[in-house]
Amino acid sequence: MLVLGLETTCDETAAAVVRREGDGPGQILSNVVRAQLEEHAAFGGVVPEIAARAHVEALDGVIAAALSQANVGLRELDGVAAAAGPGLVGGVIVGLTAAKALAIVAQKPFVAVNHLEAHALTARLTDGVAFPYLLLLASGGHTQLIAVLGVGQHVRLGTTVDDALGEAFDKVAKMLGLGYPGGPEVERRATGGDPARFAFPRPMFGRAEPDFSLSGLKTAVRLAAERIAPLSEQDVDDLCASFQAAATDVVANRVRAGYRLFSARFGLPSAIVAAGGVAANQSIRMALKRLSGELGRRLVAPPLALCGDNGAMIAWAGAERLALGLSDDLDFAPRPRWPLDIAAAAPGAKA
Ligand code: ATP
Ligand code: FE
Ligand code: MG
Repeated sequence: MLVLGLETTCDETAAAVVRREGDGPGQILSNVVRAQLEEHAAFGGVVPEIAARAHVEALDGVIAAALSQANVGLRELDGVAAAAGPGLVGGVIVGLTAAKALAIVAQKPFVAVNHLEAHALTARLTDGVAFPYLLLLASGGHTQLIAVLGVGQHVRLGTTVDDALGEAFDKVAKMLGLGYPGGPEVERRATGGDPARFAFPRPMFGRAEPDFSLSGLKTAVRLAAERIAPLSEQDVDDLCASFQAAATDVVANRVRAGYRLFSARFGLPSAIVAAGGVAANQSIRMALKRLSGELGRRLVAPPLALCGDNGAMIAWAGAERLALGLSDDLDFAPRPRWPLDIAAAAPGAKA
C-alpha cells in the first residue's frame, strides 16, 4: 500500500510517500522536509502566524517534490494522510485541507493522523517493532512515557509536570545566547564542556511514578549562569555539558521507572523505543542504550532524520490505520489539542 503523508503542525512543512506491505518495516520512497528556520530565527521560537503563512507558501512544492521523488502518481496512492493535531491550528488547517483535497482528486481515503502517534509508530516503520513496547516520547512540546499496545491503543504511564525536555534544551540555549532550536546547539557546545563542573539537580530522581520535572533544572542553569557572568566560551560549554549530563541522568532514571511500571501492568515490552526530536541527542541515546542492555531489551531509536518532524511518520501512521480499515470523514476538524491516550477514541474514525 502507498500512502502520502503531510506534516504541518509546527515549523516543518513536510510530505512523504511510504510503502507498507505486510507486518515488517515500511519503505520510505520520499521524505521531503522544509524547515522554517530562517523565518523564526529572529524571534527565538516559533511564531504561529508566520508558520501558517510559510506552510501555505511551501506545501505545494513540497508535495510535488515528494510525489516526483517517489515516482508515484496521485492515482497510484492508496490513501492520503495529514497530521490533524496536536499543534498550531493555523498550520494544521493548511495540511489537513491540502490532504482532503488530494484525497478527493485521487478518489482515495483520507486519514487524520495524531502527530504524537506518528512519532510513536516510527519504530515500526524503521524496525518493524512488535506491540507492545515502551515509548519515550521527548520533543519540543511533549515528554511522556507511554505503553504502546497497538495502533490507537496507548496508555500514558508518566509525563512532565512542567517543561518538556526539548523545551528545556531550547530555554537553556536561549538563556546562554545560543540559536534556536536549542537542542542541537546545546549538544554541540556540550562536547567541549565539563559535565561535572556544575552539580545540577536531577528532579524526580528515584521516584516510582515515571514522571518528569524539568523547570527546576532549567532554573538551576540560569542561576549558575548569572552567578558566574560574564560568561566565557568555556563557561557556556561547561554549562551545556553539565545541563545535558543532568538531563541524561533524569531520562535514564525515569525510563527505568517507566519500564518497571510497564512490566507490572503489561508484561515485558518487545523493545524500548525513543522518539521525538530529543531522541536525536547522542548522550541521551547512549544512556538509553546502556539501560536497555542492562534490562535485556532492544533499544530502537529512529535515524536522526526521522527523530524530528517529518512526513514519512505521518504517511506511515496513515498506512497503519488504513491497514486496519480505519479512515476519516472529510469534515474531520483540526485538533490543536489531542492527547495520545484518546487517539483510539477519535470520533472521526470509522471502522
Ligand atoms: P511535538 O512533537 O511535541 O509537537 P515538536 O514538533 O516541536 O513538538 P520535534 O520537532 O519532534 O518537536 O522536536 C523538536 C525538539 O527537539 C526541540 O525542542 C529541539 O530543541 C529538540 N532537539 C532536537 N535535536 C536535539 C538534540 N540533539 N538534543 C536535544 N534536543 C534536541
Ligand atoms: Fe513532533
Ligand atoms: Mg518541530
